[in-house]
Amino acid sequence: MKVLVINTGSSSIKYQLFTMPAGDVLCTGLIERIGEKAGVLTHKIYPCSNKEVKHIEEKAVRNHSVGMERIAALLIDAKFGVLASANEVELVGHRVVHGGETFSSTTEITKRVKDKIKELSPLAPLHNPANLIGIEVAEQIFTKAKQVAVFDTAFHQSIPEEAYRYAIPSKFYTENGVRVYGFHGTSHRYITKRAASLVNKPLDKVNLITIHLGNGASMAAIKNGKSIDTTLGLTPLPGLVMGTRSGDIDPGVIFYLNEALGYELNDIKNILNKESGLKGLANDNDMRGVTERAAKGDKEAQLALAVYTYRIKKYIGAYLAAIEAPLDALIFTAGVGENSAIIRAKSVAGLAHLGIDLDIELNKVRGGERKISTKNSAIDIWVIPTNEELEIARQVYELKSITRYVS
Ligand code: ADP
Repeated sequence: MKVLVINTGSSSIKYQLFTMPAGDVLCTGLIERIGEKAGVLTHKIYPCSNKEVKHIEEKAVRNHSVGMERIAALLIDAKFGVLASANEVELVGHRVVHGGETFSSTTEITKRVKDKIKELSPLAPLHNPANLIGIEVAEQIFTKAKQVAVFDTAFHQSIPEEAYRYAIPSKFYTENGVRVYGFHGTSHRYITKRAASLVNKPLDKVNLITIHLGNGASMAAIKNGKSIDTTLGLTPLPGLVMGTRSGDIDPGVIFYLNEALGYELNDIKNILNKESGLKGLANDNDMRGVTERAAKGDKEAQLALAVYTYRIKKYIGAYLAAIEAPLDALIFTAGVGENSAIIRAKSVAGLAHLGIDLDIELNKVRGGERKISTKNSAIDIWVIPTNEELEIARQVYELKSITRYVS
């Protein structure tokens, strides 16, 4: 069965076509700069092995509709296509960023579901509207396929109330839904399942701290296979230091910037979302550049790394306590977590007395799933490459099987 996974952003569409249940990738691609003068489409096919054929188009893509039509055309293209007809796609899995408290699992898309995603848009104003466009365009193009939503917040719906409530007047929760939702749920879920299998524990018995370090970054405390806390909140702004987002700050900073320094609310929003994090501290949001500069002695870059990794360490301590049971493993994933030995090393430095003991040599090994803790470490440390698209394809495929069984 062919399953198409779609991740629509405000000006981009990412896609990946799978054969399920094998999980083989037939093709993958990305359209960027939708709506701008010069759009870029990158399409890669994997004919039978991991031999890759890359096709790049540089021309304007007027809107998401045009983009999705181009993707559908490429899927059946004589040269770059992998399907005889778009009707071969039986399932389309959409990544939807915010599912609020309504969606705690993967859900078949109906009119009601779309209305609800729209209703939740104020909680994710940049993402949910774009996700909806992706769904509506896909419905028109892949008419034979069932459309399914996989929510980024769903995995964290198991977080207990003491962890998801903010200590602000209750009406903001009861009337307006202001609470911790958390994000990157698909990645944390994928990592949790992989880690349970790698440490030989049943999923409902595994205790983990999962550390997702991409452009956006978050950690989750996993107890008995379920998320019980996470660092992102109502919005993707709190917690860890990110590429351009601040992570945790004293909320009073916002009032100080406004009242004492005269910044408007919109400027502050921009500063905290786009000008902070690594960019704010070291004037570069890309971890590669920051680590290279730090290695050459650049003080600003060294400080950025210190703040970035101290924040991770602090949350490791918090989550060890929150889990209230022995931890099986600590997992690093995503662009920085998978690739940066120095970030991993600094994040767990000094934690051997807590049973977290990194093997310096194993930590230098590159690529794939790997254990990087010493033999004596009570808690395993692993690097597990995340695969959100595959997790979405699996979720969608499993839902299809369940639906079939019921009907
Ligand atoms: P996202 O999916 O959130 O856009 P990724 O998971 O692809 O992000 O991670 C992007 C981040 O990974 C960037 O900050 C990039 O610098 C970082 N990264 C990629 N490779 C390396 C590397 N070898 N060393 C350090 N950081 C890296």
